[in-house]
Amino acid sequence: MAISVVGHANPDTDSVTSAIALAALLTAQGMEAKACMQIDAKNLNPESTTVLKRFGLAAPELLTDAAGKDIALVDFSDLAQGPANLASANLVAVVDHHKIGDVTTNNPILFRAEPVGCTGTVLNKMFKEAGIAIPKNIAGGMLAAILSDTVNFKSPTCTDADKAAVADLKVVAGVSDTDELFMEMLKAKSAVAGVSAKDLLFRDYKDFDMKGSKVGVGQLELATLDQVADVRGDLMKAMEAVKAEGRHSVLLMLTDVVKEGTDLVVLSDDPALIEKAFNGKLEGNSMWIPGMMSRKKQTIPNLQKAFGC
Ligand code: MG
Ligand code: MG
Ligand code: MG
Repeated sequence: MAISVVGHANPDTDSVTSAIALAALLTAQGMEAKACMQIDAKNLNPESTTVLKRFGLAAPELLTDAAGKDIALVDFSDLAQGPANLASANLVAVVDHHKIGDVTTNNPILFRAEPVGCTGTVLNKMFKEAGIAIPKNIAGGMLAAILSDTVNFKSPTCTDADKAAVADLKVVAGVSDTDELFMEMLKAKSAVAGVSAKDLLFRDYKDFDMKGSKVGVGQLELATLDQVADVRGDLMKAMEAVKAEGRHSVLLMLTDVVKEGTDLVVLSDDPALIEKAFNGKLEGNSMWIPGMMSRKKQTIPNLQKAFGC
C-alpha cells in the first residue's frame, strides 16, 4: 500500500508542495508514496494553484479519510487538522515546523520537526542528507513554499536556514529572481477581480469597541495599490453602508506588502482623531502610513490610545 503524504486542512502552499516533495523523497528511497491533500484541486487557494501551474506540478490527490491507510504528515501534527480517522490510521512519518501536536503511534516512525520558517526548509535538508537530487519542478514548489511561509523573509518566523534553503533551491529550480516569484504568488493571493467591494471590505474585517465607540477595521494585503485603483469608489460606498449601521469609524487598511506600508482609508465622525492616532494627514479619504503592516500590532493599539481606551 502506498504511503499517503498529506498536509493540514485548508492547505497552504507549504502543505501542498511538502506533500509532493516528501512523497518524491520516500519514492526515491524505495518506498511507494503519493502526495495527497484534504481538498479537491478545484478548491485549492489561488496562490497554491498558481505555484503548481508555474512549476508544472500535478495537484495532490484528494484524501479525506485516513482509515486503514499508511499516512505521512507534513506541515502539522495535530489530529484536529488532519483527515478523518487519522487517530486510527497507521502513521509512518511526520515532517513539520510547528509545535508538536497530539498524534501518537504504536511504532517508532520517521519524525522530523525543526523550528524553522517552512516545512520546505526541513525537506531540503532531508534530500541533502539522503544524497538525493531534488527534481527541478519540485524544487520550485519548495522554494515557493518558503517564500510564502516566511512572507519573502519578512516574517519573524524566518530563520537563516530558510534563507540558505532558498539559496539552494532557486538554483535547482532555475529561478533567478525570487522577489518576482513572491510577487506572482502575492498577486494571485490578493486578486480582487470579480470580487464585490463589500466582500473585499469584509475579506479580513473586525469590529472593535473603542471606549463606547464602534470602530470597524478591514485589511487587504496587496502586491501593489494599483490592484484596487479602479474599485476605490465602490469600496468607499461599501464603507459608507457599514458606517451607517452605527459605527463611529470604518477604516480600511490597503496594505502594500512590497512597499511595506498601508494606505489607510478613513470614514469617521472625527477624522482629526484618526489623523492624530497615526500622526498623519488625510488627503481626500486616505493617508499613507509607512511601515504599517499589522492591524493587531500597529493599527489597533494606536486607535486605542487615541480613543483613550
Ligand atoms: Mg501551513
Ligand atoms: Mg508551513
Ligand atoms: Mg502559512
